[in-house]
Amino acid sequence: MSLQGKVALVTGAASGIGEQVARQLAQDGTAVVIADLNMRNAQAVADSIGAQGGKALAVSMDVTSEDAVNAGVEAAVNAFGSIDVLVSNAGIQIVNPIEDYAFADWKKMLAIHLDGAFLTTRAAIRHMYASGKGGAIIYMGSVHSHEASKLKSAYVTAKHGLLGLARVVAKEGGPHGVRANVVCPGFVRTPLVDKQIPEQARALGISEAEVVRNVMLKETVDGEFTTAADVARTVAFLAGFGSAALTGQSVVVSHGWSMQ
Ligand code: NAD
Repeated sequence: MSLQGKVALVTGAASGIGEQVARQLAQDGTAVVIADLNMRNAQAVADSIGAQGGKALAVSMDVTSEDAVNAGVEAAVNAFGSIDVLVSNAGIQIVNPIEDYAFADWKKMLAIHLDGAFLTTRAAIRHMYASGKGGAIIYMGSVHSHEASKLKSAYVTAKHGLLGLARVVAKEGGPHGVRANVVCPGFVRTPLVDKQIPEQARALGISEAEVVRNVMLKETVDGEFTTAADVARTVAFLAGFGSAALTGQSVVVSHGWSMQ
């Protein structure tokens, strides 16, 4: 499937990795729907893609709301005629040792990462099936889809869960030409990670430099952060891959942290 002329919906595309994914897909010829809670930033990203000659639409979407997801996907289809690629990327992080992890935080984490992935998949896949053209669904997993870290019970649980969802969607979607894969980044310097560095330093009783060196990048081959551009290129590759030779898989993009 070439990306030229396709339509992609990217959740959490007003910031960080999702924004870069949307920009990459637009550069590759895809009309992109920037779906995010933060409508102001989503509109700014859409305007900037438009100013560079791309096609983009900002939609307000809380991925945990069934109505908001269904409405956002309808708005995308009304604007651009179809939905060929879904990138389920919206996410947050809440770190705490499990004995102090608030139940409300646990539920919020699972709602955004897992309910969001389910609701956007269900809404988008109905259009992919109905069009007869199939499509590509990419979940933003993490190295934490394969590994565990202290303080991240809900995040690790949710990111592991996405592997299961992608495998089921790959099996159900296969006969309809829908592929599903998970991209698993290592640490990328986005607002989500910048917020975590002082929090982890406090929780682990170490300095922020030690968090970066000894926690975040310890297992990489070269002590380097992964970039949003690295992740975006991988998403675009999977989105544009032309057959079900690549489905139900996860691709780790992490400078060697966690080799599968
Ligand atoms: P970010 O904070 O820069 O961006 C996240 C975006 O998601 C924001 O624009 C936010 O408004 C949006 N969002 C949050 N809750 C939402 C909701 N309920 N509905 C709709 N949008 C919502 O974060 P990021 O680092 O770019 O993370 C994006 C994804 O990548 C997440 O799923 C995260 O778990 C994953 N990830 C990040 C890293 C990393 O190191 N940054 C590593 C691996 C995986």
